[in-house]
Order: sequence, then structure tokens, then C-alpha cells
Amino acid sequence: MTSPLTVLDTLGRPMRDLRISVTDRCNFRCVYCMPKEVFGRDHAFLPRAEILDFEEIELVVRASVALGVRKVRLTGGEPLVRRNLETLVGMLAVIEGIEDLTLTTNASLLAGHAQALADAGLQRVTVSLDALDDQTFQRMNDVGFPVSRVLDGIAAAEAAGLGPIKVNAVIRRGLNEHAIADLAEHFRGTGTSIRYIEYMDVGHSNGWRLDDVVPAAEVIELINARWPLEPLDPRYRGEVAQRYRYRDGAGEVGVISSVTQPFCGDCTRARLSADGQLFTCLFATSGHDLRGLLRSGATDPDVADALRVIWTGRDDRYSELRTLETVDLPKVEMSFIGG
Ligand code: SAM
Repeated sequence: MTSPLTVLDTLGRPMRDLRISVTDRCNFRCVYCMPKEVFGRDHAFLPRAEILDFEEIELVVRASVALGVRKVRLTGGEPLVRRNLETLVGMLAVIEGIEDLTLTTNASLLAGHAQALADAGLQRVTVSLDALDDQTFQRMNDVGFPVSRVLDGIAAAEAAGLGPIKVNAVIRRGLNEHAIADLAEHFRGTGTSIRYIEYMDVGHSNGWRLDDVVPAAEVIELINARWPLEPLDPRYRGEVAQRYRYRDGAGEVGVISSVTQPFCGDCTRARLSADGQLFTCLFATSGHDLRGLLRSGATDPDVADALRVIWTGRDDRYSELRTLETVDLPKVEMSFIGG
């Protein structure tokens, strides 16, 4: 539904979702996201003074909700490495107009935080998990983190009422294709749905090649051969995952085919980096600085005006224009902009 306050970009897309990166730091070094060679010991993460504080984030959220945002997702980096995240959740949970307040996490610290996050008003969590065997998972997270502790985090989130939980798995050719069936088998019938994400050419550090992408259609074919599936209708315009249900009633799976079937036409997402830049595309090369405005004593209407100007000028549709040439553009890292 379009409210009178809804702002549309140059392609008629409303701003509905805001993803907030609360930190550029992460305790994992996933080889496809923050490889150690690039994010090593001497990597310069953002200094504290450059990171938005909770009041600044709250102001941006209030202003964006006034322009039509209904879904807010906290991400990173790893959002749970930001201290007192529950406090921020509590501040956002009381903003009228937010229909969905969620968190994307690697779940390494989730078991210890799930109840406090739920108590503060978080509604759901999405957990990233790329394999169920330690050998593959540890090869991917590159810090020796075991699968069992991620599963403990999922269980704690479930117990705290943060379900239904979605699990995101990035599939990269030659690295974790066997995890497609493993994850499907494990989560079938549990109420937790798994979503397979095509490996994307975000950022610059992961050495992305088209050959590394396992197309979503291949994922569905593989699962369907073992556990027959049927497609489900999208629940709303702009739903990123294409969903399927198991014909035997064991729940659903989803695929996010951002490379093979781009969905820019329905993209209603804005992203706020930890240092207060607004990005209107995951594949953007630069953002729009809001921190300067926030730190010059801006009020809600000032920030809403700035957001309106940015959004009405938006014309990004990177994934639809992706070519071998665009892959080499100096894009911002996913760990910085927030996944
Ligand atoms: N640390 C949190 C986590 O692990 O969920 C939140 C941030 S992380 C950048 C968000 C998501 O982006 C994760 O599910 C991760 O697997 C995904 N991601 C990172 N790099 C990616 C890439 N090149 N292609 C597809 N997904 C990617």
C-alpha cells in the first residue's frame, strides 16, 4: 500500500526496507566476504568516533519510517560484536510504523544474547550458516568456529521467541555444494526455513568469478529430485527470496537469485553503513554522507528531507546491468555496507 508520504525513486520504487550496519567488524573471516588476506591484523577498521551512535541511528530510522520504511534489519559486520546492541533494539522497537525489526547474524554470540534481544523488542533473526560439517564450515569462516555453536544459537533464538528463523547459506561452486542437501535435510520439518543465496560480486576482495556461482535453479533442481517441491507465490512486492514448499508438508525453502535473475525492479532497500553513509544499492561504489548532517544538530525533518532527495534521485539497477566490465568496478565491501 502506498501512503501519501511514500517517496518513489526514478524507477517508481518506494523505500520500504532499511538495513543498518552497526559495525564494520566481524569475528569471522569468511573467505567470500572478509578474507584474511584483506582483513588481516593490520586492517584499519572504522575508529569509534566515526561510527554512528545509537541516538544517531535512531534518528535516521525515525526519519526513514516517516518516508515509508516498514522493515528494519540490523546487520554488519557482525552486529552482535557491537556492545549493548539490545539498547539500540529497545530504542528502535518503540518507533511507531516499523512492522518488522530483525537481525542478521552469524549466531556465534547469539546464545548469550537471544533472550535480551527478544526482551528488548527484536522480532526475528536470520542466521548465516554455509555448511553443516565442521570441515567445510571452518574452511569458510576461516576462524575455526564450530557448527554446533551456531546451532546452539539458533536453538536459543527459537526458545526466546525469535522465530520463525531463517537460515541463509551462500553456495560457492567447489566449496560447499554438498551443503545444499545437508542443510535441506537438517532443517526440513523444523519450522526453520533455509534460503540459498547465489554468491555475489559484492565488494572487491573476494575475487568473484561467474563460474563460482551455483545458479538458484540448480539448487532447486537438486532438492526437488530428492524431496519434491512446488513454488509458492510471493507474499509481497519486492520479496527477495523465491519460495518453494515441500510437497510432503515439511516446510519451505527459498532461493535468492541475485545473479542469475536480478530483481532490481522491485528493490525497495536502503542501506546505512556504520559510519553513516546511505547506500541505495548493494553494489554501489559510493554512499551519501548523513553523519555530517546528523552531527550538525539536524532534526527529524532535516534528515527526512535529505533522505527524500537521495531516494528520489535513485536510479541504481546494478544487477540488471551486470557485465564482465561492471564486475571490476570499485564497489564497497558487503561487510561495510551490511548484507
Ligand atoms: N555477520 C552477519 C552474518 O553473518 O549474517 C551479518 C553480515 S553478513 C555480510 C550478511 C550476509 O551476507 C551473510 O549471510 C553472508 O553470507 C552474506 N554474504 C557475504 N558476502 C557475500 C557474497 N559475496 N555473496 C552472497 N552473500 C554474501
